[in-house]
Amino acid sequence: VEGKSLNFLEEIVEESIAGGEKRVQTRFPPEPNGYLHIGHAKSICLNFGLARKYGGKCNLRFDDTNPVKEDVEYVDSIQQDVRWLGFEWAGVHYASDYFDQLYAWAVELIRKGLAYVDDQSQEEIRQSRGTVTVPGKESPWRNRSAEENLDLFERMKNGEFGDGEKVLRAKIDMAHPNMLLRDPIMYRILHAEHHRTGNKWCIYPMYDYAHGQSDSIEKVTHSICTLEFDVHRPLYDWFIEKLDIYPSHQYEFARLNLTYTMMSKRKLLQLVRQGTVMGWDDPRMPTICALRRRGYTPESVRMFADKVGVAKRDNVIDLGLLEFCVREDLNKRARRRMAVLDPIRVVITNYPEEKTETVDCINNPEDETAGKREVPFGREIYIERDDFMENPPKKYYRLSPGGEVRLRYAYLIRCDEVIKDADGKVVELRCTYDPMSKGGRSSDGRKVKGVIHWVSARHAVPAEVRLFDRLFVKEDMNDIEEGKTFEDYLNPDSLKTVTGYLEPSLNEAAEGDTFQFERLGYFCVDRDSTAAGKVFNRTVTLKDSWAK
Ligand code: ATP
Ligand code: MG
Ligand code: MG
Repeated sequence: VEGKSLNFLEEIVEESIAGGEKRVQTRFPPEPNGYLHIGHAKSICLNFGLARKYGGKCNLRFDDTNPVKEDVEYVDSIQQDVRWLGFEWAGVHYASDYFDQLYAWAVELIRKGLAYVDDQSQEEIRQSRGTVTVPGKESPWRNRSAEENLDLFERMKNGEFGDGEKVLRAKIDMAHPNMLLRDPIMYRILHAEHHRTGNKWCIYPMYDYAHGQSDSIEKVTHSICTLEFDVHRPLYDWFIEKLDIYPSHQYEFARLNLTYTMMSKRKLLQLVRQGTVMGWDDPRMPTICALRRRGYTPESVRMFADKVGVAKRDNVIDLGLLEFCVREDLNKRARRRMAVLDPIRVVITNYPEEKTETVDCINNPEDETAGKREVPFGREIYIERDDFMENPPKKYYRLSPGGEVRLRYAYLIRCDEVIKDADGKVVELRCTYDPMSKGGRSSDGRKVKGVIHWVSARHAVPAEVRLFDRLFVKEDMNDIEEGKTFEDYLNPDSLKTVTGYLEPSLNEAAEGDTFQFERLGYFCVDRDSTAAGKVFNRTVTLKDSWAK
């Protein structure tokens, strides 16, 4: 697109095209061990986005090599979330589909003298690996003959050994400066049922052996992953070179980190299991399903991914940017409604007891086609408690004793009397309205600056409204202090539930519908709504209110 500079991954792709590459093929490779989060959304937008931009294709590949942690529940949710974000894969694949091929290639490496069966325990292996400055120790089993290795590896596959009794290792260099090349483990024994292959296998390939070969089988041209895998790249290349198979290449970008947000699937699972949150889609979670439930749109998430860009170095993005994106998007599409979340009753003493009328309200000033609606008005209304002040400072334009304010789309009212309960709490305001001011304009040209929203008390629909705050109080959740855990930073006030009083048109709202409650924020109908009452989630406030 003209005027927009390329990000470094686009530069890499364009260089490879200039260098004669005919195809662009990427993949999004989640492990089905949890729900996708906003970090994955970044990776999805990147992988599918590159394929789309360069006329290539992007596969969805489940990196399902660890049967203990994986489940079809996650496989299903991942597909749903990718589609919701607006992307469709060219093919859906599973690393487990390649188990036969991966096994055959392991046999080939054994034949070539490039892999061996090690009888050491994983602990012994870890200890003999050395350190960055100290070379590792070779395993006593390192120089087994190819015949013996082939026999043992086959017997590993056939289930003759228990978990952890043996592993298959690549034979590279125990003194290699890159620790990952000190004879990395390729296969481990794990007698566990796999969600797709059942009990066919009791040996499972490790990430480093499975990932690159899966890329190669699919003929992925650009295998994009996060920065921490840059040290794995030599190993990625080593397997491909020694097997002499299709040369996929790996490129790294910085993972997305967000302030006040924790993205480890393992820890998110812990919050779900403990019941700290309502589930994976609790609107406070950073998961895609939670963002959806909270009222985020796919467009807003894609806009966010785009604005974040692609970095080569780790950084932490302000959560405010994600909120900015959803405000931008919902401002264009959300219908406006009136709702009062912390009410005081207002009685308009000169308004006839039995009378009701309707006022015309604009559904969306950003979108003419959204039209208008009629909202009932009457003698008793609710206004927001903080739209009234008994002793207002200068320049306070909302309601105060003796002062006048404009009710949005309705009339000017003046506060004549403040009624309090025994504790001195304001419980009712007695006001008079100017019958000539319908629509909100004064008939004599006097200026009334303040405009507030309201709901007719007689027509108001009560609803549960969930006001969410960030889940953690700490800005950088990657920087946990010693002796603390991420749970020490949970925000005890991350969910506040109130009863809101809504204009009656909101009775018709269906699950997932999103509205701007005027002056308050964006809200959507939650799936917990029942015939007895609706539940609304606050997606985001209208303005950034974080104390920075
Ligand atoms: P987690 O640590 O949360 O479990 P993961 O990286 O192990 O995340 P995978 O399912 O393996 O999760 O991730 C699938 C893809 O999404 C990988 O290519 C990974 O690099 C990418 N990804 C995961 N987290 C982020 C993130 N925060 N920012 C960008 N990409 C991410
Ligand atoms: Mg992973
Ligand atoms: Mg992980």
